[in-house]
Amino acid sequence: MKKFPYTPILGWSISRYGLFESCKRKYYYTYYGKYDPIHARQKIESLKSMTSIPLEIGNIVHDVNKTFLERLQKTEQAIDRSRLFDFAWETTEQYCRSKKFAEIYYGAIEKLDMEDLFRKVKISLENFLDSPRFRWLMQEATSDKNKWLIEPPGFGETRLGGLKAYCKVDFLLPLGDALFILDWKTGKADQVKHSKQLLGYTSWASFHFQTDHTKINPIIVYLYPHYEERQVDIDEADIQEFTDRVKRETEEMYGFCANVAENIPKDKDVFPKTDKTKFCNYCNFRELCRE
Ligand code: SF4
Repeated sequence: MKKFPYTPILGWSISRYGLFESCKRKYYYTYYGKYDPIHARQKIESLKSMTSIPLEIGNIVHDVNKTFLERLQKTEQAIDRSRLFDFAWETTEQYCRSKKFAEIYYGAIEKLDMEDLFRKVKISLENFLDSPRFRWLMQEATSDKNKWLIEPPGFGETRLGGLKAYCKVDFLLPLGDALFILDWKTGKADQVKHSKQLLGYTSWASFHFQTDHTKINPIIVYLYPHYEERQVDIDEADIQEFTDRVKRETEEMYGFCANVAENIPKDKDVFPKTDKTKFCNYCNFRELCRE
């Protein structure tokens, strides 16, 4: 994969622009906390680093899947489900003990129900193991398994229309002259966001592997509560439209920079708090906004 020299200019990603759209103040705290004139950087970083129960379920499933696929790459021995679930339980315990949860910090719950959290992790893993996609993986897609890319390191940097962008894939595997990209989801299906993500993955893979987009098959894999997949047919016009959109959205975010090349933000007042208070109920920074 092509490597890019570091530049401070901001790079588009679905999550960055999603945050920018939802609340400019949250966007400021997340990306420009060190410039805040009121709150200590340490405080902002500490709030930013908190996790949440849904986020952590996703993290654990991603990490267990990663270890599991790496093992499949090395051996084709039958899967010992009980060992896999033991490992998933150990990972759940370890992550839950070492992280700070927003639900506890803001008093929504007193302590974590680790059993319940693990139950969702286990259902997600079982759904994958029982899925036609997993059977396909074992029966058809292992021939080139030395070429699998499982959670490739880095942030998935790429270029779209010459602009910096990030599209991080979970799992990429070649099959014949085609590329398949699988992206695990444990949360709700979001048609708009996830369609955009599929286009992002196609553009990323096409750039890095010089593959025609018609040979790239990005698939969103919903693991909880039921197994489901989402794929779309992507044509040249979709890719062009997506590139134009990324350009528009990047320029919108540039508009909040005092210095675009150095990614230095304008004053905090330029980043208003959202008036859609439903976003605040799940926001890690609500303590700062309430003060
Ligand atoms: S609490 Fe609400 S207004 Fe404040 S940063 Fe979070 S989402 Fe924005």
